[in-house]
Amino acid sequence: MFNKLFSSGKIGTMELKNRFVVPPMVSMFTNEDGTATERFIRYYEEKAKGEFGLIITENYSINQNAGGFKIMGRMWNEKHMNSHKELVDRIHKQGSKICLQIYHAGRQTTSEITGLKPVAPSPIKDPTMPEIPKELTVKEILKIEDDFVNAALLGKKAGFDAVEIHGAHGYLINQFLSPFSNKRTDMYGGSFINRFRFCKEIIEKVRGAVGKDYPILIRLGAEELVEGGLNIDDTKIIAKMAENAGVDCVDITVGVYATRYMIAAPAAVKEGWLAKYTAELKKKISVPVIVVNRFTNPFLMEDVLDENKADFIALGRQSIADPHFPEKVKEGRFDEINKCIGCMQGCIGRQVQGKNISCLVNPLTGKEYAYDKKTDNPKKVMVIGAGPAGNEAAISSARAGHEVHLFEKSNKIGGQWLIAAIPPNKEELNSFTLWQKKQLEMLNVDVNLETEVTVDMVKKGNYDEVIVATGANPITPNIEGIEGENVVQANDVLTGIKLVGDRCVVIGGGLVGAETCEFLALEWHKVAIVEMLDEIIGGLEEGPRRYIMKNLKENNAEIYTSSKVKKITSDSVIIEKDGREITLECDSVVIAIGSSSDNKLARKLENEGIDIKIIGDAKKAGRALDGVLDGFKVGYGL
Ligand code: SF4
Repeated sequence: MFNKLFSSGKIGTMELKNRFVVPPMVSMFTNEDGTATERFIRYYEEKAKGEFGLIITENYSINQNAGGFKIMGRMWNEKHMNSHKELVDRIHKQGSKICLQIYHAGRQTTSEITGLKPVAPSPIKDPTMPEIPKELTVKEILKIEDDFVNAALLGKKAGFDAVEIHGAHGYLINQFLSPFSNKRTDMYGGSFINRFRFCKEIIEKVRGAVGKDYPILIRLGAEELVEGGLNIDDTKIIAKMAENAGVDCVDITVGVYATRYMIAAPAAVKEGWLAKYTAELKKKISVPVIVVNRFTNPFLMEDVLDENKADFIALGRQSIADPHFPEKVKEGRFDEINKCIGCMQGCIGRQVQGKNISCLVNPLTGKEYAYDKKTDNPKKVMVIGAGPAGNEAAISSARAGHEVHLFEKSNKIGGQWLIAAIPPNKEELNSFTLWQKKQLEMLNVDVNLETEVTVDMVKKGNYDEVIVATGANPITPNIEGIEGENVVQANDVLTGIKLVGDRCVVIGGGLVGAETCEFLALEWHKVAIVEMLDEIIGGLEEGPRRYIMKNLKENNAEIYTSSKVKKITSDSVIIEKDGREITLECDSVVIAIGSSSDNKLARKLENEGIDIKIIGDAKKAGRALDGVLDGFKVGYGL
């Protein structure tokens, strides 16, 4: 069924067992000095165990000034090189190949991160960065080229099977290539050939140093997606020139920091959308091409290879969500695949905050070294509530070897997550519920639906541990008119329990409010949203936020920020904004101002002196990422 995906492939002299590639993604699991930790190694090793044919490491900085993150791999001295030998050996033991990616961030870093002033082809501030970089002299350019060579040679010495030069995402090589960031008037700027010179010299020098048989890959962006930046027509020429300069493979990605929301596109973007670019590219070059960005469906991946749109498929977030993806596809275990839902909460969301990555659907990410083991002291465990946090607690404790009994008062598992999956572009959330359900089955968790737990049941059950994951309930604010028949809760609108009229006002501009507003706008309601803060969905990751805002704008939703609701009447909501009153006429008022923990049962149990562990929204209403992680830690920690 997947003949192409599981056919062997070649990049230069490097033989690969299949077409699955892990692309570079900064994890922040190294030591502060850039050396490898056991955590770092185990994180990658898990992907090799899951049968990825090629792992391209995250970007390693090539000198002190090159890093864009405080914690990341570094490769510029013997100490760095020696510490990464173990990583290489462990990947090889699993039958996979590993390629070292080397890079220089250029202006896409800060002096706070590196301790040095950022450098660039031209002294132009990156739109996302605080500092104007220093313009590189020709002497400094040549020194950086030598640093690339040094890093490549150290990688080869450490045993890496190949080296990838990062020429995308707005980093230094990309900055030289692009008229968006390169305004030089010397031999490194101005014409296309001059802008390519830095890239060309690096490729040629690295080739000269590592020898003709050592595979060299280059990462290029299909498009920068910025005004005046590189587009696919430019990239086709650059790829051809890179091939002529000596690379063995072109690894295609997209975007720069100014368009970071597309580097890892959110769930609203169609899967495999970059394949249209690699298909064009493949007509121009003869070396293999890797494609990336939102692939989760193996049938689509096979199709991309079958139609010769790419030679290898790179799975970034999908390899975080499920490092065993290739193995499961090979064995036809489709319902065991933990699908990336494109939420961005754990991976990119944490990375941009300078934190090590995690994953909403796979809390084991980066914790493989510590948690993936059985208990010596099996216990009888009760979990109350089958939302994402309760399910995760049940799954983790069952994996750790405990006897687990899960109770849920409704007739299905999923809790509030089922409602969260209803708004536009959120349907993929259901795949996590299905995956949790399958895990509960596989782990023989005793699942009791339509069972409301009482204190008596807990007492009689003789449980060693009781985990309370009863979730949260929507808050009803104290506003005049809130009791009116025209007032409904957002959850009731999304689930279809309550119908609303043509004109709606949504009170609350958090995620639930904005998504409900989007949901209604797309169903042709005339909507307005009112928020006390100065923006709506302010804390949401940039990718998903952009698509919600776009839908709201395109469907003429009115947005009132810094606004206070004064009163609800039978046909309006009266708000105060900038010191004046505004009447928003409407048929229905939708309340979405957040949730508060449902801990009624927890209080009763505590009053009876029963020792309990409260997790997820029942402890503190918040993001699913935190709730699932809570369930994971409590489950494994019993
Ligand atoms: Fe995918 Fe969300 Fe996990 Fe990131 S955190 S890998 S987007 S499921």
